[in-house]
Amino acid sequence: MRIANLDGRAVIVRDDGFVDIATASQGRFSPSTLAVIAQLDDVRAWFELEAPGVTTVITSDELECSSQLGPVVAAPSQIFAVGLNYRTHAAEMGLTPPAQPMIFAKFASSLAGPNAAFPIVSPRTDWEAELVLVIGRGGRDIALDDALGAIAGYCVGQDVSDRDLQMAGSPAQFSLGKSHRNFAPVGPWITTRDEVSDPNRLRIECQVNGVTFQDSTTQDMVFTVPEIVSYVSMVCELRPGDLIFTGSPHGVGQGQKPPVFLRSGDHVVTTIAGLGTIRNDAE
Ligand code: ZN
Repeated sequence: MRIANLDGRAVIVRDDGFVDIATASQGRFSPSTLAVIAQLDDVRAWFELEAPGVTTVITSDELECSSQLGPVVAAPSQIFAVGLNYRTHAAEMGLTPPAQPMIFAKFASSLAGPNAAFPIVSPRTDWEAELVLVIGRGGRDIALDDALGAIAGYCVGQDVSDRDLQMAGSPAQFSLGKSHRNFAPVGPWITTRDEVSDPNRLRIECQVNGVTFQDSTTQDMVFTVPEIVSYVSMVCELRPGDLIFTGSPHGVGQGQKPPVFLRSGDHVVTTIAGLGTIRNDAE
């Protein structure tokens, strides 16, 4: 099942268009994506029984490009991110992969829809293609074996980064450097966990102006998806709708020789196999 945020309302994405969950269920479910994620099992049961017969479908010629798509969760309580979680990316940044997950925050006001434009805030504004986890059941002290079960689904994200602010001092300033306006675009929709057999076997790519800079697989993560979820939950209670950016593979602008950074008018296209594509322009 794929769930998106269309004009602020939770919808199921079908091949023929979008089904408004609140309308089609005659009010049984809330239009809020957060509420739908918290009731995902009930929504799925309803969808399998009733939704195939729903004819009130909002169609779009090119669903992924719809400018009406918002962030997959409109107001998550927390957005975590993992730094340096691919060995080849740590190496291109001149850093050693951390011995335990390096967690920072992307603050909620940086969240944006899958086609949002983001500002060039410094001469070193960079891209980072990332797999994003959407927490479902959540909880505290989640054991490694239970960690996948805490996830509702997956989507594509860009961890847009202001390297000037990120690296301005020592120690580094990750959270603010990655939290400017629209620096956390996600989408195009949530693909529920049952449709992804292994989140650590997904091809992940990023193109800038049609040139492929990142082309890797989530298999190369230092800390796997279950390890990240379990680790964060030992400190922070994970709640339905929370997002976790899981780190970026090699091929970011900072890692090019010489480095390449984004400029106004650039097109950033991020794709994860099976999860879709997000398109974000630098403005
Ligand atoms: Zn990142």
